[in-house]
Amino acid sequence: MAEFYLPSKGLLYEEGPFREGVIRLRKMKGKDNQILTEGKDPTKIMEDLLSGCLEGEHTKASNLYEQDQTFALLMLRVTTYGATYPFQYVCEGCQQRQDRTIELDQLNRVDLGDMIRSIYGASLSEEDVARKARGPFVVQTQTDGKEVSVGWHWPTGKTLKKVQVRLRQLNNAKLGRRPGEGEYTFGIGSTIKEIDGQPVDFQAAVQWVANADAGALDDLRASQERHAFGMNLDLVLECDCGWSTETFVPLMSREFFRTYRNRAV
Ligand SMILES: [Zn+2]
Repeated sequence: MAEFYLPSKGLLYEEGPFREGVIRLRKMKGKDNQILTEGKDPTKIMEDLLSGCLEGEHTKASNLYEQDQTFALLMLRVTTYGATYPFQYVCEGCQQRQDRTIELDQLNRVDLGDMIRSIYGASLSEEDVARKARGPFVVQTQTDGKEVSVGWHWPTGKTLKKVQVRLRQLNNAKLGRRPGEGEYTFGIGSTIKEIDGQPVDFQAAVQWVANADAGALDDLRASQERHAFGMNLDLVLECDCGWSTETFVPLMSREFFRTYRNRAV
């Protein structure tokens, strides 16, 4: 069993086992490999895999925020196979297969508390950092020629799951679809908690997004990028031929959690 501090250090959780900011992971077993072969939805597969390997009570992966979930999945592979991750890719410059190795425990990591302090002041107390972290973060912008304040916060795994279910319903049934509903408006809508200080539910948030000026949504996205924390999965792969390929650690693929195959990025 291995123990890790989450990038949130538990600041986002008002209750439950993740509040202490620590997770305990066991190594993957045959039954976990079995999960990797089941179903088509990678989000669900990864969640089931992680839930099974998280030690402790009520430690469902869907209760983790996305940034912590990403970190936990990385550490699950580290715990099971070690930090060294060898992979192959085909360089777009010379079309040759390249072998590379990265150390998964040395990827860039930004902790939530550090990000909050870098934006709101290095001298913030622990309490103020925790209060800020729980949000919402407020963006002042304009839409329809009027000033508006939008309060946002990261969606929990549970909310993201609801979004996935709703998207599947839309795609399958193609009925009951309201104007503007889809992946884009759901993605932003799932982050909006308040409009002009008034709480809004998911449905109302999606409708607000659908009718908001694109410039206002851009302001919202900028604020969300500024508040980014967690693991940076971006990779820049340099080839001897001089070509560099921008890609990312393929966390949501079954191959990432196996070693018996040539893994490609
Ligand atoms: Zn090359």
